[in-house]
Amino acid sequence: MRNLPQPNRSTDRATLTTALSQYQYKGVAKGYAGTAEEVTAVLAVYDAYDAARGVANIALTTPEMDAALKQALHDAYDQTQKRRRLKHVREELFSGVELCPVCGIDPPTELDHVLPRSAYKAVAVYVRNLVPLCHLCNHHKLAGFAEPGELPFLHAYFDQLPDIQFLHAEVRLQDSTLSVTFSIDGLDAVADSLGDKLKNIHIRLNLSERYLAEVNIFLASQAISLHGAYAAGGSQGVKAQLRAQAQYEIRRFYRNHWRPTLLAKLSTCDDFCNGGFIPVFNVPAEILRDAFGS
Ligand SMILES: [Zn+2]
Repeated sequence: MRNLPQPNRSTDRATLTTALSQYQYKGVAKGYAGTAEEVTAVLAVYDAYDAARGVANIALTTPEMDAALKQALHDAYDQTQKRRRLKHVREELFSGVELCPVCGIDPPTELDHVLPRSAYKAVAVYVRNLVPLCHLCNHHKLAGFAEPGELPFLHAYFDQLPDIQFLHAEVRLQDSTLSVTFSIDGLDAVADSLGDKLKNIHIRLNLSERYLAEVNIFLASQAISLHGAYAAGGSQGVKAQLRAQAQYEIRRFYRNHWRPTLLAKLSTCDDFCNGGFIPVFNVPAEILRDAFGS
């Protein structure tokens, strides 16, 4: 899990002015004819959203706003789709976000309304209420985080994640089989609510299982490099290779991404580094001969 930079608000007024204006569709006027005062009123709700750091409150649930205006904002979200007049909202939010901020596995394909569109119509097209997620994370979030009393979902723009390692991997090598488990831990020093929230999401979204499904494919991509490191420097060479790859991936992705977390843990596993990785990968001998000559 990671934070995403807060989207810039410089185009809010222009976006709302477009969202609250009429347009022609097959010769018929569609949309809502809003006023400059209404746009200003919606911007005030956005300010209230920022002040509350995206946490639901009465000012956001029932802003003093005409029902028709709220419905127009709700409906305007559909116009963020491809080729429609608010498509820039979607394009800007996806821009530069390579991986879903929650799982770090798949690219984001959907926009999640942090405060649901149906209940919080006024912020339906507010950029800081829209977080790009992958389909699976969004699906799980929609299926289980809206009930009263539930811990809320991570707000990737407002829940400031601590700069510490809180995703952990355990690795065990037995009978040429590598087993890996992931967990969230080490958050005792941060606010309880945030630590509990991260643990809850890790469990509810089956992130451990989803990482495991990726581990074999990912490690297979490291197999030849590890053989090369072992041929050149033995177990110390393998450890150095894993540490360097982990450092690179932290910079390429982020600290609590599952890949550098796994690589760093493997670099401390003597059984794995001291040739134990060889039967795990089972690279055909002729490939190794071609590569390393022995
Ligand atoms: Zn995801």
